[in-house]
Amino acid sequence: NAPLAEVDPEIAEVLELELGRQRGTLEMIASENFVPRSVLQSQGSVLTNKYAEGYPGRRYYGGCEFVDIAEQLAIDRAKSLFGAAYANVQPHSGATANAAVLSAIATPGDTILGLELSHGGHLTHGMKLNFSGKLYNAVAYGVDPETFLVDMNVVRDKALEHRPQVIIAGWSAYPRQLDFAAFREIADEVGAKLWVDMAHFAGLVAAGLHPSPVPYADVVSSTVHKTIGGPRSGFIVSRDLELAKKLNSNVFPGQQGGPLMHVIAAKATAFKLAATDEFKDRQVRTLSGARILAERLTSADTREAGVDVLTGGTDVHLVLADLRTSELDGQQAEDILHEVGITVNRNSVPFDPRPPMVTSGLRIGTPALATRGFGDAEFTEVADIIATALKPAPEVAELRARVLTLTDAFPLYPGLAQ
Ligand code: PLP
Repeated sequence: NAPLAEVDPEIAEVLELELGRQRGTLEMIASENFVPRSVLQSQGSVLTNKYAEGYPGRRYYGGCEFVDIAEQLAIDRAKSLFGAAYANVQPHSGATANAAVLSAIATPGDTILGLELSHGGHLTHGMKLNFSGKLYNAVAYGVDPETFLVDMNVVRDKALEHRPQVIIAGWSAYPRQLDFAAFREIADEVGAKLWVDMAHFAGLVAAGLHPSPVPYADVVSSTVHKTIGGPRSGFIVSRDLELAKKLNSNVFPGQQGGPLMHVIAAKATAFKLAATDEFKDRQVRTLSGARILAERLTSADTREAGVDVLTGGTDVHLVLADLRTSELDGQQAEDILHEVGITVNRNSVPFDPRPPMVTSGLRIGTPALATRGFGDAEFTEVADIIATALKPAPEVAELRARVLTLTDAFPLYPGLAQ
């Protein structure tokens, strides 16, 4: 029972270094967040020891009486948070949730229609090296080359052309809301199931700041660790109890063995917190911060430097910076921001002239900083630091100092030692 620092000092050092990195930089990867201490506590708990194949009350292992309570709480809270009749909280990740969804509502060889990966879609929506592209006949709709928006006429044309069994609405890099009602109509017209992957915007939905896909979709999957800010994992909800049995059996035993009970307990806590006013306030600051960033990156001085924002703004938690006419490519821009102490990821823009490892875009998100406590004043300062860093010949040391002023003013996990 010796502590980690004694048992494995090398790994203890990694934890220490990572905590220092998170504390001393500004985290703006759109898919990341900071979990609360309560979530860290469950994840580092004795629940990790427990096997619990099956579902609450119907397990294949003894001794599940307490983990059953945790899983039932997580299920009930997910249902209540998203107004769903059904929830499965066992998926280890967003990708396994998606694999379970597809295997429940489609048969290998079926046609699935999702957003093109290079236009902001996700690997699990039909990328050719992913299970979704290998097992299914994946076809894609893209965004409009002028507006960079999903055009529902194009989605409908593609659906009529390919007659998919499944239509997928959801994205990893798209700065606007999707029209779920229009997706539903198209799905009905071609006799497809509608699956919405709300992994990115689930926290906004939970806070009532983004339309909910639940009333429209046959099934909705999500991660818990992006805008929701819970443990790294996935879940599935549906308004349709008819699919419940199929979805459950496609998670376990279809995709997974034993559920991660320590993570499921942490999910229960994350869903509890997501129903609070404090959570809503965080999502309001998240959206406001993204808008401030979009405004700053579309001002005259950044545009002059070839920096712009796809679709001209955002109505979610992220901004897609467009560097197609900038001297900086996505890799260089990511590197400069890294030097300044701001973590983002480069991202292909649709119809990107540069190769995928270089790219002409940055995906910049505000959820983690909103969790850290940032409001409009701090986001205005962050936006100015980013805008200045992306212009020619930035004073890196000066910008780094401005970042440190912000990180010092908003200490992360105060008192926590790894
Ligand atoms: N779905 C979408 C839309 C995502 O953006 C992601 C993660 O990036 C996933 C699914 C997969 O989640 P995970 O990384 O937990 O497998």
